[in-house]
Amino acid sequence: MEHRILKVALDTPLDRVFDYRWPVSQKQVPQPGQLVLVPFGRREVVGLIVAVVTHSELAADKLKDALAIRAQLPPLASDWRALCAFAADYYQRPLGEVALPALPKNLRVSKTTALDRALKKIAQVTPEDAAVAEAVAAPAPPLNAAQADVVTTIAQARGFTPMLLFGVTGSGKTEVYLRAAAAIFAEAAADEAPQVLILTPEINLTPQLAANVQARFPDVEVALLHSGLAEGERVRHWLAAHLGRARIVLGTRLAILASLPNLKLIVVDEEHDPSYKQQEGLRYSARDLAVWRARQRNIPVVLGSATPSLESWQHVQAGRYRLLELRARAVAEAVLPQVRLIDLERDKPAGGITSSLVSAIKRRLEAGEQSLLFLNRRGYAPVMACDACGWVSNCPRCTAFMVLHKPDHKLRCHHCGLEQRIPKSCPTCGNVDLQPLGRGTQRIEESLQQIFPQARLLRIDADSTRLKGSAQAAFDAVHRGEVDILIGTQMVAKGHDFRNLTLVGVLNPDTALFSQDYRAAERLFAQLMQVSGRAGRHAQRSGGNPSEVLIQTRYPQHPLYTALKAHDYERFAAGQLTERRQAALPPFIHQALLRAEARELRDALEFLEQARQTMTQAGVTLHDPIPMSMTRVANVERAQLLVESASRPALQHFLKAWLRALQENKARVKWSLEVDPVDI
Ligand code: ADP
Ligand code: ZN
Ligand code: ZN
Repeated sequence: MEHRILKVALDTPLDRVFDYRWPVSQKQVPQPGQLVLVPFGRREVVGLIVAVVTHSELAADKLKDALAIRAQLPPLASDWRALCAFAADYYQRPLGEVALPALPKNLRVSKTTALDRALKKIAQVTPEDAAVAEAVAAPAPPLNAAQADVVTTIAQARGFTPMLLFGVTGSGKTEVYLRAAAAIFAEAAADEAPQVLILTPEINLTPQLAANVQARFPDVEVALLHSGLAEGERVRHWLAAHLGRARIVLGTRLAILASLPNLKLIVVDEEHDPSYKQQEGLRYSARDLAVWRARQRNIPVVLGSATPSLESWQHVQAGRYRLLELRARAVAEAVLPQVRLIDLERDKPAGGITSSLVSAIKRRLEAGEQSLLFLNRRGYAPVMACDACGWVSNCPRCTAFMVLHKPDHKLRCHHCGLEQRIPKSCPTCGNVDLQPLGRGTQRIEESLQQIFPQARLLRIDADSTRLKGSAQAAFDAVHRGEVDILIGTQMVAKGHDFRNLTLVGVLNPDTALFSQDYRAAERLFAQLMQVSGRAGRHAQRSGGNPSEVLIQTRYPQHPLYTALKAHDYERFAAGQLTERRQAALPPFIHQALLRAEARELRDALEFLEQARQTMTQAGVTLHDPIPMSMTRVANVERAQLLVESASRPALQHFLKAWLRALQENKARVKWSLEVDPVDI
């Protein structure tokens, strides 16, 4: 019997494709890009056909037959496969470990029931019906002059054009994205159905954005892709994109790996956001992949931010990205808030809150306006301590403190999840007067209750929004005006368009100023700009307060704060880039990180030391192995080795050979390689 040979990528750590036979007599003719069910060891798994050939290098008796081809699914296009191949190559992973996990789970199971059901359901509804039912057409507001310029530039861009939309908070970047999409749709020929991909960092922002998008394009099918979807929904949205029906695809970082046969524009909103970086498995940057994908498809890509990443900003300086600017808020009359620094040495806080901040909140309460207190630390207190003997609430399994969670009477480790009841007395000396040290959101909430017993308080953090839908419900309450003072972590800093909020108080941001992580300042600046941007997004009411941001700090003269006060991202970025250039840090150098984990730190370090001695290459520096700054998590000791090169190709070349060598020496420790690490 005559056979074709299928070259199949499988989701395994083995960096190769696998050969399977497919009888020529079968009526289905296999094609690259199709999914196929194959036997693998004792299991049956779904793989991706990357090529169909006539001969295998393997002896005929070594070859197994493929079991079934998923012919009901149109093949994944070559550009999608090229994207996966690029990501695999760049991040040094096998193709199968990139391509298959990028597909919804329901496509990767041996049964096809879920796939068939989803296909049937899709066939039953027209794209018009699929458009969110309750969406009522919302007319577009007239663009202001700056927005109109930007939209024209994007709409006129031809071919690969990376653009950085640098627009202050509230400058109407969303409106620009929607108009750019509309322009693409309007321009398309009758037989084209162009697709626009919009990436957004946070799941809790997606509902608001999705509703706005659908309202603007009531006749267009919008697909949503994020990790919060149930599997059944996920496969339907994915299929809508893959079949080319969904014209707008809105999603979080994982959406960059969606199949989009007619992709014509990519938007990355809040492009600086750390959540674009996947932190496990394939550790990719969705923003970087977006730019690569745009280049490969020869289409424009818009990266939007009020505080661009220094990588993107440097691309602008070097002339590689085009700069588009929105310098003022979109709503006429809305102005950027005034930023004031409260010197903690002069205005001593009580209960974590200074008297200046208390009076500012009081003025908002009197005027019926909302205040937001931002503190990036959840729980009641970050540590409990004994004054008598010096005991502190260390986590027994991590290099970290157990955090006091007063409402549920627990000490909880935020890294390994360990929970303990709050000890009644010191475990070491028996002292019954254990003290909470420092303040988290719960404790600030308690202080505010005492200072403003009449005010309606709401705390929004990972603890208060654990239940599905509760974050949305909380934000809805704020939007309905049922909250006077909102207390929150970075969850409240991003994106939200609060109408009646005129005061933002920032508690305790100083720690990041002296972090050993060279990106801490960049992150802090972006976060403070973001959270400041929640104030004064709409016109000041008559008799109302001007919008203000109050920052409690011990270092009111610090250049980061001075730049923030002046709303001067450019000055801040220029300073940072100068420092990075002098210190030879990214984006002026390229990095990779080899991490090792073991029960004993010694084993992890030893593995890294051996890895370091395995190979050298001119122009590539291998640093000494060191313990990670949080060395132990859940009783696992962690160490790292930093690899650097001024040349990207040299680094990639080295990593490839190095990885091969490391894989050959069977290591006793768990290890992984990350390209372009962000947490080092
Ligand atoms: P950004 O994403 O830049 O922070 P948004 O897109 O959230 O800003 O817009 C801020 C506010 O300005 C929103 O309430 C939006 O509806 C409004 N807006 C945007 N463009 C215009 C416009 N041209 N005219 C009036 N209001 C606008
Ligand atoms: Zn004690
Ligand atoms: Zn722990």
